Order: sequence, then C-alpha cells, then structure tokens
Amino acid sequence: MAFEGLAERLQSTLKKIRGKGKVSEQDVKEMMREVRLALLEADVNFKVVKKFVNDVKERAVGQEVLESLTPGQQVIKVVNEELTKLMGGEQSKIASASKPPTVIMMVGLQGAGKTTTTGKLANHLRKNHNRNPLMVAADIYRPAAIKQLETLGKQLDMPVFSLGDQVSPVEIAKQAIAKAKEEHHDYVLIDTAGRLHVDEKLMNELEDIKAVASPDEILLVVDAMTGQDAVNVAENFNERLDITGAILTKLDGDTRGGAAISVKAVTGTPVKFAGMGEKIDALEPFHPERMASRILG
Ligand code: GDP
Repeated sequence: MAFEGLAERLQSTLKKIRGKGKVSEQDVKEMMREVRLALLEADVNFKVVKKFVNDVKERAVGQEVLESLTPGQQVIKVVNEELTKLMGGEQSKIASASKPPTVIMMVGLQGAGKTTTTGKLANHLRKNHNRNPLMVAADIYRPAAIKQLETLGKQLDMPVFSLGDQVSPVEIAKQAIAKAKEEHHDYVLIDTAGRLHVDEKLMNELEDIKAVASPDEILLVVDAMTGQDAVNVAENFNERLDITGAILTKLDGDTRGGAAISVKAVTGTPVKFAGMGEKIDALEPFHPERMASRILG
C-alpha cells in the first residue's frame, strides 16, 4: 500500500502529541525533529522538508494553538494542512478545451508506465467524464509500444490511431488530430516515445510534436518509486516542455512517498493522477488532502 513506511513513522510521532492537554514550544520542536527525519528518510527533497518544518513550527507554536482546548489535535491539524498545501492544496483537474478535441501529450522516461497510463486515462475519461478519446501510438522506437497500445485499445474497445513505425511522430500527431476532428473525438491522447534517460534528441522530438499538436496538456508520467529521481526528471521535462501536470505511477508500491510530496513543491507542477496498480482501472485523481490524510492517519 502507498506510503506505509512514512505513514507508520509519522503516525507514531504524532500520537505522542495528539492527546496532550498542554503543548509546549519544546514539545513541538521535538515532534518536528522526528517529522523532519521521517520526511528525509522518505526521500522528500531537503529544501522542501526545511520549509515545511519551519512553516509548521511557526504556526504550531502560535498562541491560538497552544492555548486552545485541544492543543495536541490543533498541532496535528496544522501538520495536515501544511502537508496538503505542499502537495498542491486543491485537486488539479484535467484540461478540457473550449473547442474540442482536447489534445494531451503523454511524456516520460521508458518504463515509467506511459503507455499503460495512456490506456488508463482513456478509460478514466470515458468512464467518469463520458468522453470519447482517441489514443495515438507515437512511440515508434520501442518495438512493442505500438502493439501494447493497440492491445489496450482492444481490451477497452477504444480506437487507437497508428501509422506504424516508419512515419515520424510529428506526422502521426498531425494526422491523428485531423482524424479526431473528423470523427468527433473530444480527447486525443498522444503516447510519445520514452528514453532511458533525458536526452537532447528526445527533447527535440517532443518539442517538435508540441509545436504541431499545440497540446492543452503535457502530462509527465513518472515512477513514484524512484523518489527524488522522479522529481529531477520532472524538473528536466518542465524546463524544456512546460509540462502542465504529472502522473505518479506505481504509488501502490511506494512506501516512502518522497516524489508524491515533493513534485509540486519543487517544480510547481501539480500532480493530477496517481497510478495505483497494473490494472486498467487503477488510476485515481490525485487529491492532496486525501493523500495527506492517508499519510497522517
Ligand atoms: P512505458 O515504457 O513508460 O510506456 O511503460 P509501460 O506502460 O510499458 O509500463 C511499464 C511497467 O510498469 C508495466 O509492467 C506496467 O504494468 C507497470 N505499471 C504502470 N503503471 C503502474 C502502476 O501504477 N502500478 C504498478 N504496480 N505498475 C505499474
């Protein structure tokens, strides 16, 4: 289950303060020392941890909290609110173009779960928003990617646009959007190529696709289990492409939570969805408040 290691540590730390009828500045300090260590061990970016600890301390040692009837609970409420804020505060929704189709570019490194997530997102849009998306196989380099998307399309009984692997991704994107207009698809999900690492060639190609597709969203798919590496990847992609959101995959196996907590704070890019398993319906909108409650119990 997601965040279990971090959750366990934070919950045992917070338990000590929860029932206190009186909370001193020293109590808050000690609690935050443990919270700080727990977050660092969870691979949360150290600058983010520092700011978080300071923000919580500042609010938690205020008169209002310490003199309230239930100061222990008030301190925990502050931790919860600040953690929610860190992860983006409000839930960040997927774009919907005023003039359809809404074009979404799916980008990310190989193995992050991009192709799977493209299928999951198509399913989510149909099931929860009554949409009619067209998936586009523009990852022409990984031999199995086109097949994989077509298989997902069959499984979902949803169309996949493909021109094989001999046509450029830019041309594929162009023709796919034209076809989506013709056939009245309201969303176009373009599965782009990944690489093992961020490299110049990949970024150039993604910029070219962006130029012809004018996407309403560029969603970066990153593997949450890679912690700060995921955050670094997000920074890199954001610098070149101005991504509009991130999808964290494999949160089901992520016991630490470092990426989920840091991506928004470090890159300014909201996390829009979380992948919670390999199955096609294992995709959830990312709710910062619910995530914070999951972590803090
Ligand atoms: P791509 O190279 O980025 O297109 O990656 P794939 O879509 O092929 O996914 C790589 C692997 O990650 C596959 O085995 C997926 O089943 C798996 N995967 C993707 N998303 C999730 C997730 O949210 N949870 C888990 N446990 N596995 C996932």
